[in-house]
Amino acid sequence: MELTWNCPECSAIARTAVSESLSELKCPRCGYDRPIAAGSIVARELAACPYCASADLYVQKDFPHGLGLAIVVVGLSVSTVFYYFDMPFWTMFILILSAVLDFVLYKYVPEVTICYRCLTQCRGEGSNPGGRYAPFDLAIGERYRQERIRAEELRSRAAAEADSAANRLDSPIEPRAR
Ligand SMILES: [Zn+2]
Ligand SMILES: [Zn+2]
Repeated sequence: MELTWNCPECSAIARTAVSESLSELKCPRCGYDRPIAAGSIVARELAACPYCASADLYVQKDFPHGLGLAIVVVGLSVSTVFYYFDMPFWTMFILILSAVLDFVLYKYVPEVTICYRCLTQCRGEGSNPGGRYAPFDLAIGERYRQERIRAEELRSRAAAEADSAANRLDSPIEPRAR
């Protein structure tokens, strides 16, 4: 399984091949490391998010955003041209071809398992054992989105307070980065 996660120190997108024997995630850019959540991978199967230990995960097609739509739009525009030139066979052919292409792509594109809380992605065998994880649920997603917004607010407030405290004291000590 491969984990795609966001380094909290330098914001790099890191990719790490994970297994039960791996004990930590390490950022290739800044060297930040953190232990892999205990029990997140059991018998080569994903049981929880290896980054934050949350068991709320969802699956979606690992499909580039907009690709399916782009195929439909291109198919429609090309068929319109054939329609304009009064070529009904080719008009239908292009329409059906784009629909079939979309269907086939959707069917064979692999899935990616994503953590609701930290948005870490997990790909590869064992990332959705036995179809354990369901597609995105709006209610759960919204709960975690609110949680992320609150956490971000707290972080920026703490940073602002540290800044103003440092300015008040006019101290040579650097304000804390976090
Ligand atoms: Zn980093
Ligand atoms: Zn997570």
